[in-house]
Amino acid sequence: MSIYNIAVIAGDGIGPEVLQEGIKVLNTIAELDGSLHFEYTYFPWGCEYYSQHGVMMDEDGVERLKDFDAIFLGAVGFPGVPDHISLWDLLLKIRKSFDQYINIRPIKLIKGAPCPLKDVNREDIDMLFIRENSEGEYAGAGDWLFKGQANEVVLQTGVFSRKGTERVIRYAFETARKAGKSLTSISKGNALNYSMVFWDQVFEEVAKEFPDVQTASYLVDAAAMLMISDPKRFEVVVTSNLFGDILTDLGAALAGGIGLAAGANINPERNFPSMFEPIHGSAPDIAGKGLANPLAAIWSASQLLDFIGHEKYGQLVLDAIEGLLLEGEVLTPDMKGAASTAEVGDRVSKIVSSLM
Ligand code: ATP
Ligand code: MG
Repeated sequence: MSIYNIAVIAGDGIGPEVLQEGIKVLNTIAELDGSLHFEYTYFPWGCEYYSQHGVMMDEDGVERLKDFDAIFLGAVGFPGVPDHISLWDLLLKIRKSFDQYINIRPIKLIKGAPCPLKDVNREDIDMLFIRENSEGEYAGAGDWLFKGQANEVVLQTGVFSRKGTERVIRYAFETARKAGKSLTSISKGNALNYSMVFWDQVFEEVAKEFPDVQTASYLVDAAAMLMISDPKRFEVVVTSNLFGDILTDLGAALAGGIGLAAGANINPERNFPSMFEPIHGSAPDIAGKGLANPLAAIWSASQLLDFIGHEKYGQLVLDAIEGLLLEGEVLTPDMKGAASTAEVGDRVSKIVSSLM
């Protein structure tokens, strides 16, 4: 029996509602497999916790999470709690403490998923974005000089270390090699004359270790255009924290919308737990009404299965999502259906069972 200990931070708004459906699907697999078991430990952290306790997570929170096999996160953020608190004191704290320096976002237009492009060839939208997740433009470095004065100046510094840049690019090359796919680097060396020149240099250096991997490089502005006009160019993609943040939201819109988009925060060395989450926020406007689309959370569960070595089940969950979309009957309102969050989770679980 393989037992996996999962820390669940359901968080705020629709977070708990969608995670419950991801867990439902994981449990369906475990029950049918018989040799697999998930043990969940729930942590009540988030903005509601903040309003009662003055902290997003307990002081020893990181210590308590560190021995889990994975963290499954819903969403954090709620009106009244400033984003910089909800983000920095929970999400970014976990990402940093556990050195989750890789953010993986699949941008894959599965059958049945809505796409805003006309006459699209579905297979052309199948990218794997690997975003630097620990430094770069989001290093939090900068200064605010002469604050409030007429001559005030604000500095926001991108931090690109040799170690940080090399490791994400190397991880991307290894991923591309394993998948037998090309690797595209997205940067902006013509305008960001320190950071991105360095990024391009490191990319070229590491590429020499992977002569079998076909590569391409684009400026971020050109890449944004090409993702729409010629998406098939992109297979595995590596890019910086900021560019990855923006382009993966564009990618989410291409591949079925925010209700489908999943992301994983990975510590590849497995010294610490990795974290899996739908990329959408807490969506307070629809929270507590059973309207939230749980497919992004279910897709995150699929990524979790991949990461713990059950790729066969990870794929099976994707197949089940595809099956659900193709049926087109049990969908939440954001996908023009009338089903509830739980009904979608039930239906995916049912399809999972039928595929096992
Ligand atoms: P946060 O402050 O946590 O980022 P948010 O209000 O920005 O929350 P997002 O999740 O970023 O919410 O999404 C913006 C809007 O998209 C939501 O207000 C909601 O209407 C819609 N939305 C997001 N996720 C989902 C989902 N899973 N199902 C249905 N609609 C969603
Ligand atoms: Mg938001």
